[in-house]
Amino acid sequence: MNEFDLIKRFFSRPTHAHDLGVGDDCSLLTPTAGMQLATSVDMLVEGQHFFSDVDPYLLGHKSLAVNLSDLGAMGAVPRACWLALSLPRVDADWLAAFSAGFFHLAEQANCPLLGGDTTRSPQGIVISITVMGQLAPAQALRRSAAQEGDDIWLTGHLGAADIALRQMLGTMTSQPELLAACRPALEQPWPPYRFGAALADVAHAAIDISDGLVQDLRHILSASQCAATLDLQALPVAPALLGLAPELIQQAVLSGGDVFELCFTAAPSQAKRIELLAQKHGVKVTRIGGIQAGHGLYLRDGTGARAAPEQGGFDHFS
Ligand code: ADP
Ligand code: MG
Repeated sequence: MNEFDLIKRFFSRPTHAHDLGVGDDCSLLTPTAGMQLATSVDMLVEGQHFFSDVDPYLLGHKSLAVNLSDLGAMGAVPRACWLALSLPRVDADWLAAFSAGFFHLAEQANCPLLGGDTTRSPQGIVISITVMGQLAPAQALRRSAAQEGDDIWLTGHLGAADIALRQMLGTMTSQPELLAACRPALEQPWPPYRFGAALADVAHAAIDISDGLVQDLRHILSASQCAATLDLQALPVAPALLGLAPELIQQAVLSGGDVFELCFTAAPSQAKRIELLAQKHGVKVTRIGGIQAGHGLYLRDGTGARAAPEQGGFDHFS
């Protein structure tokens, strides 16, 4: 199978009539009049972001999911995506499963694949996806938009992806039932991208906490020049973790990466609306703290508040 057969067989699907997809030198996208385009690129590298033996269907899903997560965190509705794929060899079964996982989510998200690039990379698989979404001008959920007095909210649960990863890396003893319960969070995340778009005119700042809650919330605090206090008891721990040692749970919940959930801030007056929107979209939301004047991130428990740990969270170069 040559490069062009591969593209035709695995990555050519019909697109919306007003757009132009795979097969030309450029794709063509017609934005809705008056809307702003939001774009994001993410790269997944074999051995860094995924294990070589990961189920290719789940990898296809996750490759797009992590990009949809960024669109949701900005308040944008998905419009289209582009896929750059670099492979050591052509493995038809792998490609069939990868593209099935990818297109299943792309169709659900109404985010057609308009083009890409395909190359060979002897050292391993590299997947880079570009997404574009749309939103009304001035509605983007910027990291710099948190305001004093805002509530801090979180979607979904915390900690499962980290506990799965620890077991798969062997840094924690593997327990088959625990691993089975935690693995989907790591390998097949379902980011709340539709809910994120619905928050565009409700929330102030938002971020997806793919590098861990503490680290990513700090990005909002430094961009917005404010402080925050998190209520440790309010943090939504993934149910599967409840038998584990409290220190381990706290580490996984505060610093564990690969969490494709949204952390966002909003005025307290929006609480009811946020809960109704969450219900409508089938998303769990929890109020986990608040924004204050000053700087720094504080953790509060029954006994008082203390500064959050400095490190924690994922950094490719640390
Ligand atoms: P070029 O020579 O301009 O780089 P290519 O021969 O790489 O073009 O690609 C031919 C067509 O196939 C283009 O429309 C491109 O967008 C599309 N394409 C290439 N690889 C992929 C892929 N992995 N997924 C989707 N479309 C792809
Ligand atoms: Mg090319």
